[in-house]
Amino acid sequence: MSNSAVWHPFTQHALEPAPPRATATHGAVIETDRGPLIDAISSWWVVTHGHRTPEIMAAITDTAAHLDQVIFAGLTHAPAEELAEALVAMAPPGLTRVFYSDSGSTSVEVALKMALGFWRHSGQPRHRIAVIEGSYHGDTIGTMSVGERGVFNAAYEPLMFSVDQLPFPVGDGAETLAAFERLAAAGRMAALILEPLVLGAGGMRMYRPKVLAGLRAICDRHGVLLIADEVMTGWGRTGRLWACDHAGVAPDILCTSKGLTGGAIPLAATLASEAVFQAHFSSDRARTFYHSSSYTANPIACAAALAQVRLWQASPMQARLDTLAAMQAERLAEVAADPRFENPRQCGTIAAVDLRVDDGGYLAGAGPRIRAHCLDRGVFLRPLGNTVYVLPPYCITAAQLDQVWGAVLDWRG
Ligand SMILES: *Cc1c(COP(=O)(O)O)cnc(C)c1O
Repeated sequence: MSNSAVWHPFTQHALEPAPPRATATHGAVIETDRGPLIDAISSWWVVTHGHRTPEIMAAITDTAAHLDQVIFAGLTHAPAEELAEALVAMAPPGLTRVFYSDSGSTSVEVALKMALGFWRHSGQPRHRIAVIEGSYHGDTIGTMSVGERGVFNAAYEPLMFSVDQLPFPVGDGAETLAAFERLAAAGRMAALILEPLVLGAGGMRMYRPKVLAGLRAICDRHGVLLIADEVMTGWGRTGRLWACDHAGVAPDILCTSKGLTGGAIPLAATLASEAVFQAHFSSDRARTFYHSSSYTANPIACAAALAQVRLWQASPMQARLDTLAAMQAERLAEVAADPRFENPRQCGTIAAVDLRVDDGGYLAGAGPRIRAHCLDRGVFLRPLGNTVYVLPPYCITAAQLDQVWGAVLDWRG
């Protein structure tokens, strides 16, 4: 690699060639010094409507003309207030409070702290967290602790806290539900955290809405808080506004980030039920929710998010999601007919397939080779191990999607 001072994320600098240099973005395209690339994974799942969506960019410039960061403890501002109101109106029922931070990981850390705070202030010593096998919730120590353990975090294992793991839900999820019922009945269970319907970084593994509803019912029976990490699945990715909507499930705490600003600028929010808020509401200062990020509720980011939310209110988003889902289904059927691929699966706008290869798992996988192959064909993909997935901006055209899947089908190992 070049002698750049930049240390890239999830990048083995000793093995990878210098990356293309992005110079401009528009719609589903990233222009680079080596030509245009179709952004087939929405720049790591953040871009929803498309790059530089005009309404979102206008909100950023307009707000930047009169506001930049202001401290959010002891001060408030219109973009944050209006966004919070809009989020509460659009979220699953019962989520009445909005706490801002600046990334998916921090929104999950906040959710975990809210859950533990809830139980402490309620006078019940619950501190166990249940998780689903293969999950991903971020790369900080806390979020790694509730995520899958493996090569990605082995070095940090001594610092991670223990959690109760449920098997990944297969079919009707009977085994998962039974395991959760047993653990929840044993007591001390503070919360269940999960990615609703799709385990993203865990390989785009999908499970049925009915299982999610079953887990919610067990939470209800045992008073366990349900934390829905909708950081990837939110804002239409699964074909509905929230993945929880497929199951008619309302969590006690919901995390959103990635698509919150349409992918333009960082922002995150953790939505909480009134009960979780009220557990912290007291004349006793010790019950204060002691958490903040320096850039909490950045006004420019909040304005961008508000413009993103308004797109849902103003345009026929559901029709767009349905059209994209149908486009994905057609192309996935073609890939599924190819014996080199297996386990075709789809949830809304997300389509994934596994390469039928046996070369030693993630680290030795075909992923980097197929990534290079697609790059040569103007397509930016980033397989997860041997899982190839297409998770595009919603504005992607049929021709662009053909180019993406065409590059995948064209791969000869
Ligand atoms: C990406 C992701 C996160 C972490 O978000 P960051 O903004 O990268 O910190 C957390 N949870 C899920 C489900 C994610 O996909």
